[in-house]
Amino acid sequence: MNTAQVKKSLEAGELCIIKKCGKSSIWNTFGIVAEKAGAESSASKQLPMVACRQCLKCFKYISHTTGTTHLARHVEQGCSNESCKQLKLSVAN
Ligand SMILES: [Zn+2]
Repeated sequence: MNTAQVKKSLEAGELCIIKKCGKSSIWNTFGIVAEKAGAESSASKQLPMVACRQCLKCFKYISHTTGTTHLARHVEQGCSNESCKQLKLSVAN
C-alpha cells in the first residue's frame, strides 16, 4: 500500500491514526497509521506509516530507520498549503 492509498483509506475511515507517545513534538501532529481493531482483537495492526492528523498526509515511517526529519519539515512548511485547507473544509462538511 502506498501513501496515497493509505490517505484514501484514512479519508474513508478504513484506517485510523493512533497516538504515539514519543519524545519528539512531531507526535503532537502525527500518529501511527493502523488498521481498525476488529471486534475480536483489542490491538490494532500498525502500518509502517504515519499520517498528519491535520491534513491526513501520509509518510513512510520505520522507527529508527527513517527518522522524523521529513515529518518535522511537514509541520514547519507543508501543513499550511492550500490542499490542506481544502481538505480540512471537506472534512468539516
Ligand atoms: Zn498536515
